[in-house]
Amino acid sequence: MSEFNMQQFESTAGEKWEQVFEANPSDRPKFYITVAYPYPSGAMHVGHGRTYIVPDVIARFWRMRGFEVLYPMAFHVTGAPVIGISKRIARGDETAIHLYRDLYKVPPKVLAQFINPLEIVRHFSEEYMRVMKSCGLSIDWRRRFTTVDPTYSKFIEWQWKHLGDANHVVKGAHPVRYCPQCENPVGDHDLLEGDKAEVLKFTLVMFQYGDSLIPTATLRPETIYGVTNLWVNPAVTYVKVDVDGHTWIISQEAADKILLQDHTVRIIEQIPGVTLIDQKVFHPLCGEVPVLPAEFVDPDMASGAVMSVPAHAPFDYIALRDLQKTGKYLDIQPVPLITVPGYGQVPAKDAVEREGIQNQLDSRMDALTQEVYAAEFSSGKLFEAYGGKPVRIARDDVAALMIEQYGSTVMYEFDNRNVVCRCGSRVYVKILHDQWFLQYSDPEWKTQVSGHLNDMALVPPEVRVEFERTIDWLKDWACTRRVGLGTRLPWDPAWLIEPLSDSTIYMAYYTIAHLIREFAPEVLTPEVFEFIFLGKESPNLPEREKLGKLREEFLYWYPYNYRFSAKDLISNHLTFQIFHHVAIFPKQYLPKGMVVFGMGLLNGAKMSSSKGNVFLLEDAVQEFGADTVRMFLVGSAEPWQDFDWRNELVSSTRKQIERFWNTIIESAQATGADCELDVWLISRLQHHIGRTTESLMKFQTRQALQEAFFGVEADLKWYRRRLSDGSKGHTSLKELCSVWIRLMAPIIPFTSEQLWSETGEMGLASFAAWPEVDDSRVHPMIELGEELLLRTVEDIESIMKLIQITPSSLTLCIAPSWKQEIFRTIARSNDRNQVIKEIMKDENMRMRGKDATDAVKQCTTLIHRLPPQIVEALSKGDLDEEDIFNRAKLFLEKEFGIPITVVPADPGMYAKAAAALPFKPTIVIE
Ligand SMILES: [Zn+2]
Repeated sequence: MSEFNMQQFESTAGEKWEQVFEANPSDRPKFYITVAYPYPSGAMHVGHGRTYIVPDVIARFWRMRGFEVLYPMAFHVTGAPVIGISKRIARGDETAIHLYRDLYKVPPKVLAQFINPLEIVRHFSEEYMRVMKSCGLSIDWRRRFTTVDPTYSKFIEWQWKHLGDANHVVKGAHPVRYCPQCENPVGDHDLLEGDKAEVLKFTLVMFQYGDSLIPTATLRPETIYGVTNLWVNPAVTYVKVDVDGHTWIISQEAADKILLQDHTVRIIEQIPGVTLIDQKVFHPLCGEVPVLPAEFVDPDMASGAVMSVPAHAPFDYIALRDLQKTGKYLDIQPVPLITVPGYGQVPAKDAVEREGIQNQLDSRMDALTQEVYAAEFSSGKLFEAYGGKPVRIARDDVAALMIEQYGSTVMYEFDNRNVVCRCGSRVYVKILHDQWFLQYSDPEWKTQVSGHLNDMALVPPEVRVEFERTIDWLKDWACTRRVGLGTRLPWDPAWLIEPLSDSTIYMAYYTIAHLIREFAPEVLTPEVFEFIFLGKESPNLPEREKLGKLREEFLYWYPYNYRFSAKDLISNHLTFQIFHHVAIFPKQYLPKGMVVFGMGLLNGAKMSSSKGNVFLLEDAVQEFGADTVRMFLVGSAEPWQDFDWRNELVSSTRKQIERFWNTIIESAQATGADCELDVWLISRLQHHIGRTTESLMKFQTRQALQEAFFGVEADLKWYRRRLSDGSKGHTSLKELCSVWIRLMAPIIPFTSEQLWSETGEMGLASFAAWPEVDDSRVHPMIELGEELLLRTVEDIESIMKLIQITPSSLTLCIAPSWKQEIFRTIARSNDRNQVIKEIMKDENMRMRGKDATDAVKQCTTLIHRLPPQIVEALSKGDLDEEDIFNRAKLFLEKEFGIPITVVPADPGMYAKAAAALPFKPTIVIE
């Protein structure tokens, strides 16, 4: 027998598993799962670990159930991120070097090569594969590829030709997130910070100031009628600029921004903010108003000047009130223009006074602003004098009017200013021309996607609304870039397809990835893929016979059964891939389901590579063992819940695996004839098999572990305690071990594989048949008897703790059969309030008078306390409690070291005996 040595198990199993997970079409049913492929630009941490280990547990489970299981992996290297990283390393950026040298532990020699971005990709994809193998992922590595492989590019070209022909790709001018240093639009993957930032569309309201204009940016142009003043920051130096032939006064930051938004910009001179204070400005829709000082005006937000509407903006209201407290500007009064139910004439004033806000620094101001804005938007109406329209309509009308007649223009700005590219540069909003967009805004396309979503299985079900929302609000997506790695747009090769757009149907490519390598890329015309994926024959297909094999692979594996990914990808990747599938594949090949993961925490804080709060997966495997890492990651929370990695908890998981090993090694040698206790053990085992299976079918890995590990372990503990013959168990343990190893094999495959051969089983545990429930071996009454015993032992133990005397004997008083009858009647009854009448109809019960009514009350309480499955079992059968306790007498006497007597409950003998109930004997200790 081997010693418990995880590292040893890992290397032994690793050798046995070489190539065994390569999956091919067969006459067995298939199960195909995929996970979003990783972007190998840094080392994997334990959060990534769960993303790949949970699907592996599921893959292993279905494989043992006799399915042909495909679990493939590839590497996504498209786009600019590695180029950005490479540049930062090349120019000696300390943060980047620290991250790669110290956190990701890249050797200096290799790091020096990172000035070539492809070296970064090569290094980390090798490392990913090595670490994934060390975690025991049952991947078919023959199908591995990267997204810059020439054959993959041919596949992407076909996909895009298809999308282009169907008019899903359009050219236009749109505002996009843009990095001036990379000279490229940037997606979520390209960002160091601010990936949730949204682009807001402001209207610049133009106030005349002498021969210049002061643009103020607003999201609520309809409030122009209530403007009482402008706010300008006296501490800021503004600039006078020529914009498209007009003179504007704006902040320097604003000048930099509008330059990227289709304007010509020329700086004329600097204007100290303080010189603008108390000046008058004019707009035709509100007349002449003064410019007031306000330190809260941020030059880095939109134009750097703000119009003030104190009647409807709590911030303006309180800022004005604060100023007036100094005795100035007392003649300025809020000018209301909107009626809104639930508020008086001046909504901002109401809100501020209701909350008792003291000054503009109050932390509740943002929430209050949101509240008033939302109320006015949803149910506010402009005064008749201003047209009387609802705010939601008037807003767009006034904006259009201002642009047409009053010189207004649009300015785009992030809601969150801190948006930073991976190259370290700040990101701006730029209007791109000649840019290609995927037209996700197309209502017809949206309808098809929503229609298919209804047919998809989503785990957990709560994510469905998030998908629906995403489909609804998705706008056109800038899908091409000037710079980066990837595939060129077939009809406009100056552009490259960006990462979130070349990763939408590659699950289909996996099915042929290992075979298509045998073809030269130049023969892979769109016609070839039309044949493989859509069955369209055409003349001159290269090696038609060989291509037939590829078509067979696709037909066998597709559609995929489940796709796994983290929940932050719902708003892009997971939804995009449905769009692309419905645009290209016929109904029967559309995705069937998705499993969406929660996030990973490290000691309670969000894991983040850029913040350095990560624990590398490879370090975890080395320190704790792969099985420990697996069992912890799948067992500490269900996949869709957030999990928290804490080393001390992981250590205790390791001890549990060691216990598992020792128990199996010990138990597998047990001999001796089985007794009723063995029947109980095997009966219980059937439930654990059933519930583990059920949980894994539903991706509940935590629940599965509870049943498969802790459930079986608790039974064994009780079993061993109950054995009175001094043995460690009987022959039934051999069977239990065989089942137990298999139940645990998907979760801790290395230890299980080793145990499988140690216990003399044939073949690989990874391919052993998944245990099936044998109903003929389920014995409810035997289980019930042991349950009664276990509960009674626990009751005796708690009484023993409380009593002061040294006990000399123990008597168990068993409830009489008429109480059993009452218990059963109540348990079977649908209406437990009426049941007392039912019982009292019986002559014999009536004769018992108060005893009977008391027993009804006590039984009802007991029934509420007992688990429903026990109540149900008790309602069906007659449990001979006296017999059970008599047969367990030896055990009980051994447990408590005193003589035990079992008697029918007789209040004449012991007063307490009157309280004896079914499943709850009275315990008398003397
Ligand atoms: Zn950049």
